[in-house]
Amino acid sequence: MTVNRLLPTDEAHALIELTRDICDKVMDPIVDEYEKQEKYPADVFAQLGAAGLLSLPYPEEWGGGDQPYEVYLQVLEEIAARWAAVGVAVSVHSLACYPMFAFGTPEQRERFLPEMLGGQTVGAYSLSEPQAGSDAAALVCRASRVDDGYRITGEKSWITHGGIANYYNLFARTGDGSKGISCFLVPDGVDGLSFGRPEEKMGLTAVPTTTARYDDVHLPEERRIGAEGQGLQIAFSALDSGRLGIAAVATGIAQAALDEAVAYAKERETFGRKIIDHQGLGFLLADMAAAVESARATYLDAARRRDAGLPYSRNASVAKLIATDAAMKVTTDAVQVLGGNGYTRDFRPERLMREAKITQIFEGTNQIQRLVISRSLA
Ligand SMILES: Cc1cc2nc3c(=O)[nH]c(=O)nc-3n(C[C@H](O)[C@H](O)[C@H](O)COP(=O)(O)OP(=O)(O)OC[C@H]3O[C@@H](n4cnc5c(N)ncnc54)[C@H](O)[C@@H]3O)c2cc1C
Repeated sequence: MTVNRLLPTDEAHALIELTRDICDKVMDPIVDEYEKQEKYPADVFAQLGAAGLLSLPYPEEWGGGDQPYEVYLQVLEEIAARWAAVGVAVSVHSLACYPMFAFGTPEQRERFLPEMLGGQTVGAYSLSEPQAGSDAAALVCRASRVDDGYRITGEKSWITHGGIANYYNLFARTGDGSKGISCFLVPDGVDGLSFGRPEEKMGLTAVPTTTARYDDVHLPEERRIGAEGQGLQIAFSALDSGRLGIAAVATGIAQAALDEAVAYAKERETFGRKIIDHQGLGFLLADMAAAVESARATYLDAARRRDAGLPYSRNASVAKLIATDAAMKVTTDAVQVLGGNGYTRDFRPERLMREAKITQIFEGTNQIQRLVISRSLA
């Protein structure tokens, strides 16, 4: 089903149309093969970049698309409905541009942002470590001060775009405790930086997720973003925006699963009628539709608060929680609607269900979202 979107401007409608066109022509024909072969779709990113779709929520003066977050997220939802791995990677790229945009000095922005937002490069966000996922403050990768900057040693894990990105937002320890973490912009190809082989994941197989090893990597002072010790604050404020991206991706996955289920239910017959006409199944589809629309409404509410300059951190956690739990339920139910066929790789819900699962885990597990929400209530 083509989602009939409420959008604020004609320009936004044009962007959605442009996105759908790229999805039809560039992504749909190759998604199955690339996911199967675990092949990175560099051409897809090149085309999204050339169309200006990799930097939509950032100001025009730095090369961005100047779009409200509510528009960017709906574009992201459209992309993710066709190819979740690409949607996630676009969201992570946008997340990786945020620290420089929000915390860089005017000189740093002038120097780095045009290339980061120019559409020809992609970024990565490197917070997690083997022993520090939910508990990000437990990270140990160390950035030691030297005369002309820092020397970095340690291990990072779970880097979306690892080994592919042109730059990495690195969070490393410059002191003790949660106020002893700093943020750095690491260019690809620096001496001493290496990557593990891609993780063998349940889904999102076309975009690599890797470990990274920093072996006495030298970074000049100008590559530190924000003040020394401000890293965790930067990381968390970037994640408020990033979580909305994941909520939009999850909504796209759920919408795709609903569409597959409805199309199948209108064709398949049992007991002399279409299965959609059995009330038991029709009600299942109705609940799926309600979950998708609730997910969309929840992320849009948070995005509109962000666009209005209002606090939105709790709303972002609510949106991530609601949309990703909806995606898991709706994709699982879509498999159910397809019966035995749903359990095979010949039909799309099988992949959508595998893709939905990760949205409940990364950028803060849904237990962590509940923690954020409950703390905001206390
Ligand atoms: C495909 C993929 C891509 C990723 N991409 C990135 C990336 O680009 N950059 C990046 O930095 N990281 C990335 N991550 C890492 C991801 O953010 C972490 O895996 C996630 O935050 C969970 O951390 P963990 O795996 O260490 O689990 P843990 O923190 O060990 O948690 C294990 C379980 O315990 C629960 N738990 C932990 N603490 C609490 C608590 N206080 N209360 C209740 N329950 C709790 C968790 O919810 C979870 O269920 C990615 C992960 C995956 C799988």
